[in-house]
Amino acid sequence: MPAGGIQPLDPTIVALISAGEVIDSPGAVVRELVENALDAQADRITLSLWTEDDLFSLQVVDNGVGMTVADLAKVGQPHSTSKIRQLQDLYQIRSLGFRGEALHSIAQFSHLTIASRPPGEMGYQMRPGDYAPTPYPMAEGTIVTVTRLFANFAQRRTGLPARSQQLRQIQKLIQEFALLHTSVTWQVALEHRPWFSLWGSKSMAEVLLQIFPKYSATDLREEQQDHLQVVVGLPDRFSRPRPDWIKIAVNGRPVHLPPLEETVLEAFSQTLPRQRFPVCVVHLRVEGETIDWQRHPAKREIYLHNLGEWQQRVARIIRQLLQSPQPSLSSYGKQLFRLAESAADYHPQTPPKILGQLHRTYILVEEGEGLYLVEQHVAHERILFEQLERQWQIVPLPTPLLLSDLSEEQRENLNREGIATVPFGHNTWRITALPRLLVNHPDLTAAVYALSRESSSSAVRARVACLCAVRNGTELDHATMTQIIQGWQKCQVPHTCPHGRPIYFFLGKQKLDNFFRRY
Ligand code: ADP
Ligand code: MG
Repeated sequence: MPAGGIQPLDPTIVALISAGEVIDSPGAVVRELVENALDAQADRITLSLWTEDDLFSLQVVDNGVGMTVADLAKVGQPHSTSKIRQLQDLYQIRSLGFRGEALHSIAQFSHLTIASRPPGEMGYQMRPGDYAPTPYPMAEGTIVTVTRLFANFAQRRTGLPARSQQLRQIQKLIQEFALLHTSVTWQVALEHRPWFSLWGSKSMAEVLLQIFPKYSATDLREEQQDHLQVVVGLPDRFSRPRPDWIKIAVNGRPVHLPPLEETVLEAFSQTLPRQRFPVCVVHLRVEGETIDWQRHPAKREIYLHNLGEWQQRVARIIRQLLQSPQPSLSSYGKQLFRLAESAADYHPQTPPKILGQLHRTYILVEEGEGLYLVEQHVAHERILFEQLERQWQIVPLPTPLLLSDLSEEQRENLNREGIATVPFGHNTWRITALPRLLVNHPDLTAAVYALSRESSSSAVRARVACLCAVRNGTELDHATMTQIIQGWQKCQVPHTCPHGRPIYFFLGKQKLDNFFRRY
């Protein structure tokens, strides 16, 4: 941050900064004030929201570096900031704010009071356009109070969504900032009562577990490497009915970056059931020069240089995280959590001990400190699917197959996968070669029709895997069960079948001990 306190920006810089209305809702006020507190390096931020004369009011208290009385006197003037000074600063932005516009706008729309006290100095309070700084007893940090928001802007008030929705937005915003600034403790009050808190933590995973208390550390994986931090919910345990928890952030700020959101969805695509969506937070830390915040006044939309490279890295990390299976199950609590983060701990030292088959559907395996019930069909399906992903082999059929009533789209789906459909008279096609696994299938006609309806390569492979996997209800001998379990343990994604159903249920020793009260 440049030295010299708050100063008005040069008009040439102002002209370059994406102009536009930033303060359009209570949520926007919260966002701007919270960003200021974070820029001031606060690690404790308190937000209070209340209604006064039917109008929205709020206060943000932080324990950051505060402002000198000289700076305080300048707050609320247009385009005045301590965060950038000259043109080149605009290309190396390290702070969340830089336009020097927020407090000025907020002052236009509300009663704004600011009190601040830097370390070792006295506190002062002022109200822009009303009174200059006057001594004010307070702890180090800054208190910004906004009352009667949009009192004289009835139109802006009526354009807002319902109050409950606005509060949800604010809660989401705080949760997002908490995930990106993990060491900060947040306390939020609503109508003078505690609403929610998020404690300062060491990792995104720890914050995420505060937001979703019914999940545990073993339901998440987190990885941090080289300017990139990613936390994911394991698809079979922690997913969402809506795509509302795919969060992308750059340099401590949540952003809207649809191509990267697509990358995340794609990376999860063969692990989640149809109507489920991932939980995934991706935090990039990029150099100021490779990013352009000017695109959108609220800085939600950005230009990111070398986006393609980031997409590849994010996809790779997510794949790695999803491949690290259930950690060694002998440790619990915090220890378990640490193990959960390193994939290396998984590979079992002892061979699996097959205890038997239950309901001709579940293979019972004792391993490490617990019992796995592995659903035989989905486990086998996952094994075959991964084989097919590695090697897709089309071999000739002993007897060609004749199929009728194939639409053009169905034929295209087959041809795309190397399954030729040769015209054979009116509305009939001849198939002479099929995927190797499928050749001995008892109902080839039905199988090929099923494949022809799958519109992507991986859906076709998933379909073949499903058609060829051992059925539930089939009695299995010990050797087959061992084969399935060993194959499953080697799978890259052992948690779910290609359609997203879970493969196993785990009953750990601790759960049993708890049940039998053997502590
Ligand atoms: P910007 O954040 O873009 O600089 P703002 O209008 O949000 O613009 O804030 C103007 C200036 O007020 C900031 O540059 C900063 O110097 C000071 N300021 C605002 N809020 C705080 C705070 N919570 N703690 C310390 N300084 C603050
Ligand atoms: Mg600001």
